[in-house]
Amino acid sequence: MGDTEIKLPEDFFNRMNTVLGSSFPDFIDSLKSESPTSIRLNPHKKNKLSGKPVPWCSTGLYLDTRPVFTLDPSFHGGAYYVQEASSMFLEQVFIQLGLGSQPLRILDLSAAPGGKSTHIASLMHKDSLLVANEVIRSRASILAENIAKWGVGNVVVTNNDPEDFNRLPGFFDVLVVDAPCSGEGLFRKDPDAITEWSVHNVQLCAKRQRRILNDSWSCLKTNGLLVYCTCTYNSLENEENIQWLSEQHEAESIPLHIDSDWGIEKVIFKNITGYRFFPHKLPGEGFFISVIRKTENQEEIRIKSKRKLVQPHQRISEELNQWIRHPENFVLTTHHEVISIINKNILEEHSLLLDTLHVVSIGTKLASVKGQKLIPEHELALSVELNSQHFLAQELSFEQAIHYLRKETVVLPEYKKGYTLATYQSIPLGWMHVLDNRVNNLYPKALRIRMKAE
Ligand code: SAM
Repeated sequence: MGDTEIKLPEDFFNRMNTVLGSSFPDFIDSLKSESPTSIRLNPHKKNKLSGKPVPWCSTGLYLDTRPVFTLDPSFHGGAYYVQEASSMFLEQVFIQLGLGSQPLRILDLSAAPGGKSTHIASLMHKDSLLVANEVIRSRASILAENIAKWGVGNVVVTNNDPEDFNRLPGFFDVLVVDAPCSGEGLFRKDPDAITEWSVHNVQLCAKRQRRILNDSWSCLKTNGLLVYCTCTYNSLENEENIQWLSEQHEAESIPLHIDSDWGIEKVIFKNITGYRFFPHKLPGEGFFISVIRKTENQEEIRIKSKRKLVQPHQRISEELNQWIRHPENFVLTTHHEVISIINKNILEEHSLLLDTLHVVSIGTKLASVKGQKLIPEHELALSVELNSQHFLAQELSFEQAIHYLRKETVVLPEYKKGYTLATYQSIPLGWMHVLDNRVNNLYPKALRIRMKAE
C-alpha cells in the first residue's frame, strides 16, 4: 500500500485500537508499509531464486524486490508459487501433527486459486489423496491450472458446494477450510478489502463460515482434523466460530508449538486455541489458524464404486509406461481419447469421487490419441512424474522462452524432428513439435502470456 494515507473504517479502527492497546500505532504504521513479497519453492523443481527464509516454512522465501512474475518463465514452469508468508504456516500443522508421514485423505474445501493446495500436495505422503475443491466454476478452472503447473499428482480438483460433501460421510482424515472472510488481514495488500468492509459484512461472513463448517463436518471421520483459517482478525469469524462448532458437535482443540521468535500470537477462547498473525509483529499479512480434532462418532462411507476405469490397449500402455518415471505406481486410464495416470493405491477413492462429485480434473494427463499417434499432453510436461530421458529437450534462452510462452514462433539453431520439451533453466515449460525447419508451438492457447516485456 506504500506510504499513502489509508482511510480505515471507523468501526474497524476503534475495535483494533481497543484490542491492540499500546501496539495499535505500530499496527497502523505496518499498514502504511509495503507488503513483503514471498514465494514458496516447488521442492520437485529446479530453482535459481534466493532470498531470506520464511521462519515457519522450509520452502518459503522473501524476495528483496517484487519481480514481474508473469515475465519469469520459471514461474510458468511451476518452480514456485507466489504466496503470502503467513499462510505458509500450514506447513507447521503438517509437520507437528505428522500429517505427511502416512497416507491420508485430505479435503481442501475452499481451494482456489491453489496456495494451500499446492502446499499440501508438497507436504503430503506420496499415497495421500488431496481433493482440492472450489465452489465457483471459473475459480475451479484456475485452481486446476495451478495444480497442473505445480506438477504433483494425487490431486483431484472438484467444483462442489460444501454441502455436497455430505455424500462422503467420514471419508476424510483432514479437512482444511480456508474460509471466505471479511479480509481484514489483507487491507495493506488489497485496498478493495477496505471499501468492502463493514460490521454487517463481518456478521454475514461469520454466518456463512458457520454454514460452511456445519455443512462439511460430516465428511470428516472420527479423530479427523479440521484445519480452519482465515485472513481476518476479528474473533467472530475465527475462534468464536470454532468454539461454536465444537459446541454443536464433539471436538477438541489441538495446540501447536510456536517459536517465540516468530511473533505469532496465541489466542485462547474458552476451549479453543488459535494463532493470530499481525503485520506489525511479523513479516506477513493478517491471518488466523486453529486446529480441532473431531471426537464424535461418525459413520463412514463404504467404498464400493461400480465404475470401471477404461484402460488403453496394451501397445499404447507399453509405450506410455516409458513416458513416466515410476510406471509401477500407476494405472493408465482412457477418457475421451485422453490417457491419464492414477496412483494405483488410491484407485477406488478416485472412482468414488467420480461417482459422487463434480470432478474438474483427476489424475495426470499423459497423451491424447489421434489415430495411430500419441500426442504428449501439457500436464505431462509439468508433471514431476515425467520421464524426461525419454524425450528430446531444447533449452530456451529467456527471449525464446517468452516467445514460446506467448505461443509465438520459436526459432531454433537446429531442427531435430519430434516432440520436444521446451525447457528454461532446465525446467520444462511445455511441448514443441519440431519439424524439418520449423517449430509447431504446442503451448496451450488459454495459458499464453499476453503481457508485453518492458
Ligand atoms: N485456499 C485458497 C488459497 O490458499 O489459495 C484461498 C481461498 S479464499 C480465502 C476462499 C475461497 O472460498 C474462494 O476461492 C471463494 O471462491 C470460496 N468461497 C466463496 N464462497 C464460498 C462458499 N459459500 N463455500 C465455500 N467456498 C466459498
